[in-house]
Amino acid sequence: MILPAMAVKRDYYEVLGVGRDADDAAIKRAFRRLAQQHHPDIDTNDGAETRFKELNEAYRVLSDRQRRSAYDMFGHAGVEGAAAGGFEGFGGGFGPFGDIFDAFFGGSPAGARRRSRVVAGADLRYDLTIEFAEAVFGVTKEFSFPTLVTCAHCDGAGGEPGTEPETCPECNGSGEKRRVAQTILGQMVNIVACPRCQGEGRIIATPCTVCGGDGRIREERDVVVNIPAGIDDGQRIALESQGEAGPRGGPNGDLYVAVKVREHAQLVRRGTELYHELPITFPQAALGASLSVPTVEGEEEVEVPAGAQSGQEIRLRGKGVPRLRGAGRGDLHVIVNVVVPTRLSKRERELLRELGEESGPAVVPKDSGSVLDRLRDLFS
Ligand SMILES: [Zn+2]
Ligand SMILES: [Zn+2]
Repeated sequence: MILPAMAVKRDYYEVLGVGRDADDAAIKRAFRRLAQQHHPDIDTNDGAETRFKELNEAYRVLSDRQRRSAYDMFGHAGVEGAAAGGFEGFGGGFGPFGDIFDAFFGGSPAGARRRSRVVAGADLRYDLTIEFAEAVFGVTKEFSFPTLVTCAHCDGAGGEPGTEPETCPECNGSGEKRRVAQTILGQMVNIVACPRCQGEGRIIATPCTVCGGDGRIREERDVVVNIPAGIDDGQRIALESQGEAGPRGGPNGDLYVAVKVREHAQLVRRGTELYHELPITFPQAALGASLSVPTVEGEEEVEVPAGAQSGQEIRLRGKGVPRLRGAGRGDLHVIVNVVVPTRLSKRERELLRELGEESGPAVVPKDSGSVLDRLRDLFS
C-alpha cells in the first residue's frame, strides 16, 4: 500500500471512540453505531464517505486479534496492507487500497446502493383454456392467481417504515466475503456473497411487521390479457412484469400465459385452415343438394354439386382462422363423405335394386379425383 505523503491517519481507537482496553464487543458496538450514523446513504454531510471508509478501516484492524496486536505494537505501519481488506499473506493479486473502496462506493456516496444485489422475481406460467371461437376471433380474459407481490406497508424495502437498514457487520458493508482455499496450485481466494446480508452489504435491523423483511407478501394478482384473433393451441403470451415480485424491492418477473384452446365438435383446425366433414347420402351426391354446414360464425348453406364424390372438397374462402400477423383469413374446407346406408327399409331396398339393374354391373373408373388423391392434396 502506498499512502500519499501528506496523508495523516487518525488513531483507530480514536476513530471508533473507544479506549485502548476496549473488548471485542465494545468495538463492535461502537462500529455499528458509528457506521449507521455515517453511512453514505444516511449522512449527507461533506466527508461522510471518507469518514465511513476510516471507520471500516479501523474496525477491520481492531476487530481482528492479530492485526490489533500488530497495530498496538507498531501503529499504522504494523497493519499497512491489511487495513484495507485484510488480505495480508497473499502477496499481490489484490488491488491497491483504493480499489476496494472504490468498488464499494463507486466514487460517490450514492454509489453504495450500486453494490446491492438486486434479485428479480421469478417468471411464472399460467395455463389458460379458451373456447375454440375465442381463439379464432380473439378475446380479453381476466384472471387472478396467488403469487408474491410487493408489500405495500414497506413499499418492498423490507424494513419497518421509519427505520433504516444497517451496514452488515459481517462484511462491513462490502457484501463480499473472501475465503482462502488450499489447492494443488497453491492458495486460491474465492469471493463469495456475504451469507449474512446475501451480498447486499446492509441488513434490515427492524423488519417490516407485515412482510417480515422480505418486501413481498402472498396475494392474488389480477391480470387482464388480450388474446389476439388467430392464436393457436400451445402458444404463449408474455406479460412483462406480471410475474412474481423480487425480494426487497427487486423487479417483478414476467408472466407467460400458456393458451389451451378447446376443441370444436365439428371443426378441426390446422393453423389458419378449418376442416369439416360433411356426410351426404348417395342420392344427394348423385343429384346435388343444398346443405347446412357449421362455421365459426354459425350455420351456413353450401351447394353440393351433382356427382359429388367422397373426399371432394367444397371450399368456403375466408371462413377460416385470421392470420396472427398480417391481414386475411384462412379457408373452411368442407370435405364431402358419401355414406353408404347400413339399414334399409323394404321400399329402399327395392328402389336400390332397380337402380342397380339400371346402372349395370360395372363401376366406370374415374380419370382423377379419387379419395386417396383428395387426402394426399389435403395434407401435402
Ligand atoms: Zn454482509
Ligand atoms: Zn413489508
